[in-house]
Amino acid sequence: MNKNIFIIGSGFSSLSASCYLAKAGYNVTVIEKNNSLGGRARQFKKDGFTFDMGPSWYWMPDVFDRFFEDFDKNRSDFYELEKLNPAYKVFFGENDSISVPDSLNKIKEIFEKEEKGSSVQLDKFMDEAKNNYDIAVKDMLYKMPGISPLELITKKTIFKVKSFISNIRREVGKGFKSHRLKAILEFPVLFLGAKASNTPAFYSFMNYADFGLGTWQPKNGFFDVVNAMIKLGESYRC
Ligand SMILES: Cc1cc2nc3c(=O)[nH]c(=O)nc-3n(C[C@H](O)[C@H](O)[C@H](O)COP(=O)(O)OP(=O)(O)OC[C@H]3O[C@@H](n4cnc5c(N)ncnc54)[C@H](O)[C@@H]3O)c2cc1C
Repeated sequence: MNKNIFIIGSGFSSLSASCYLAKAGYNVTVIEKNNSLGGRARQFKKDGFTFDMGPSWYWMPDVFDRFFEDFDKNRSDFYELEKLNPAYKVFFGENDSISVPDSLNKIKEIFEKEEKGSSVQLDKFMDEAKNNYDIAVKDMLYKMPGISPLELITKKTIFKVKSFISNIRREVGKGFKSHRLKAILEFPVLFLGAKASNTPAFYSFMNYADFGLGTWQPKNGFFDVVNAMIKLGESYRC
């Protein structure tokens, strides 16, 4: 068997694949056209300042943790994480903003101040969002090969047909009146490169990633993750 593997690119997908292949015993070479590694998550340094070039929102920390656990490591062996509070601040105009705090209970207080009764609606919305997250991440992301759309039809999703027909905007509109709260709840699917109006309601699992799991920050910025993956992959070098 040819044990040499060449991987083109050094973004997260390539670095992740490199780590798994190196662990499986292959001799992996990563080929990158830029002069630094990390792809969209690469780092830029100038005049004593350091910039993350792409991602800054560290969501779904469980997914990162699980990656390192696949190699019998802990994420904390590589970098420190801090949960941000406020998680982020949404601006609706020059002097019009809402800070989103770091726990669902605190977020519910903010919602209630903005719209009476909305914290109860938020609880319902988040219960559904968590259920969707459990199905999407635990049952589908890690178990499906991702080859056919038919994989989306499972014993659990079959009971969720409605949430594939409805969309995020419609579901948010059912529970909330405040345009500010609606905007906050419609925002997370932006990370999928999607609009709330044409994203199936099932994708409210992104809201669970947001309000349920929180927004985190690697101590030295997102490039900590790139460095961690490089270090992990190189640890398998023969
Ligand atoms: C501005 C910005 C902000 C973002 N914010 C967030 C965020 O807050 N949170 C989040 O989770 N995600 C965020 N993302 C998305 C996230 O950064 C990307 O999904 C992720 O980095 C993509 O990784 P990738 O490996 O798929 O691709 P890429 O990072 O694009 O990696 C592809 C690599 O392949 C290299 N390459 C391509 N062709 C060749 C070739 N022919 N030869 C050699 N090398 C080649 C490229 O140079 C690049 O290094 C953001 C992205 C951007 C651009």
